[in-house]
Amino acid sequence: MKPKIIADECIGDGICEEISPEVFELRDDGLAYVINEDPDASLQDKIDEAIEECPTSAIVMEES
Ligand code: SF4
Repeated sequence: MKPKIIADECIGDGICEEISPEVFELRDDGLAYVINEDPDASLQDKIDEAIEECPTSAIVMEES
């Protein structure tokens, strides 16, 4: 499973980057991007937290 951000849903508040900067990055265009598409299993808790805290549910897990 790999994290993905649905760009149309992202409002660019940067919460995901605050929680897990190893995986998410807020860029100048005002959207967050996944910078690590194959995150180590040790990051899963932080990814799950980012998914929970994202106000628009823009982060999803996809089959890799
Ligand atoms: S937490 Fe959600 S809405 Fe906020 S920047 Fe990340 S993906 Fe976008």
